[in-house]
Amino acid sequence: MVGAGCAGLTLAWQLSQQTRHPVVIVDNGAPRPDHFFGFWDHGAPALSLARDLATARWNRWSIITDQGVVVQNSTRSPYTALSSQAYETRLLQGLKGCSRIRFVQASANQVACTPELCRVDTTEGRIHGGQVFDSRPLPTPPGTLLQHFLGWRVQCEAPCFEPETAILMDFRVSQSRGMHFIYLLPFSQDEALVESTVFSPDPLPECWYADQIRAYLSEWYGIHSFRTVAREQGQIPLLYAYDRDTGRGTPVGVRAGAVRVSSGYAFAHILTQAEAVALDVARRRPVTARPCTGSVDRWMDHVLLRVIRRNPHLAPRIFQGMAAALSGDEMADFMNGNHGWRQRLRIVAAMPAWPFVRACLA
Ligand SMILES: Cc1cc2nc3c(=O)[nH]c(=O)nc-3n(C[C@H](O)[C@H](O)[C@H](O)COP(=O)(O)OP(=O)(O)OC[C@H]3O[C@@H](n4cnc5c(N)ncnc54)[C@H](O)[C@@H]3O)c2cc1C
Repeated sequence: MVGAGCAGLTLAWQLSQQTRHPVVIVDNGAPRPDHFFGFWDHGAPALSLARDLATARWNRWSIITDQGVVVQNSTRSPYTALSSQAYETRLLQGLKGCSRIRFVQASANQVACTPELCRVDTTEGRIHGGQVFDSRPLPTPPGTLLQHFLGWRVQCEAPCFEPETAILMDFRVSQSRGMHFIYLLPFSQDEALVESTVFSPDPLPECWYADQIRAYLSEWYGIHSFRTVAREQGQIPLLYAYDRDTGRGTPVGVRAGAVRVSSGYAFAHILTQAEAVALDVARRRPVTARPCTGSVDRWMDHVLLRVIRRNPHLAPRIFQGMAAALSGDEMADFMNGNHGWRQRLRIVAAMPAWPFVRACLA
């Protein structure tokens, strides 16, 4: 297993449960700061690994623009948030107690596989195995659209948030640097994760997002003083990536198309992907990691990103239109890739026609 991030650890854990194979996990030990994983919990058994670690779950969420608010409800698929560190610690503890699992801290330089044997060259030496799963991220080409963000977990002196409703996107913020929204997860009346999130090719200096968070809390909640109890920052390339070179082993996680590129969500899919891969290994079937969407949705996501890149000012209308076209359950299914043509056509009908027609043509 190359890489001990979310995908590598989840798959190693699934293999430890479903097979008796020894597993060597190679990771370079790069720091992994804590952040929240948000996902729609549609009840799949694979998600039970994360379910009871949830910091909070919301049956209601909203998308807000200058034009109004769309609120969606779902009791079947609540929006769920948990700490990435709590999740990875649980897996690490389980794996360290298993005698068939060995950890090697090293950087993997090269992976080479033939049908008979695989080889991983690392800074600490060569490792041989019957199969290699690789979760190292693929290089991001320059100019790729990124989702980049800074989030603060803030504690306020007085009650100000509405803990029943997660705000997935609030577009009532500056749109001067690309598509920009605030993601606000209220954990209680006085504590929330508030994240300034931009879709553009260029990450911004930290002070820019910080100013946006402060201005948002001041303008829409009247909050001028608060305590920051945690922070998270990151960037997710909004690019479909799948390493098809079988000579380099089996890709998993982000390297195997786990990111839904129109939104940056990957967590729920990584868990279901890992469970399916381990089942293939256990049943001695040919192993492939399934990407989070099929080719039709990939194409639709690609067209959507092209429209947003060319017309970021249309983003509030597009995302609010999408939310208004679906019920909460349907939205959760759509985000998890469990939807069909009816939902797709409803979304298409809600989009501004010409920008999409133009993006389809070129
Ligand atoms: C800050 C942040 C917040 C996110 N929030 C959400 C969210 O709320 N919901 C959601 O659905 N998705 C979210 N995502 C997206 C996605 O779920 C995560 O990126 C997820 O961690 C991807 O898992 P992975 O195992 O594929 O990759 P990673 O977690 O990046 O793991 C790759 C591992 O490989 C190691 N590695 C790299 N190169 C080498 C090498 N040469 N040799 C050995 N080891 C190597 C790295 O150190 C790392 O440990 C978020 C991503 C980020 C960055």
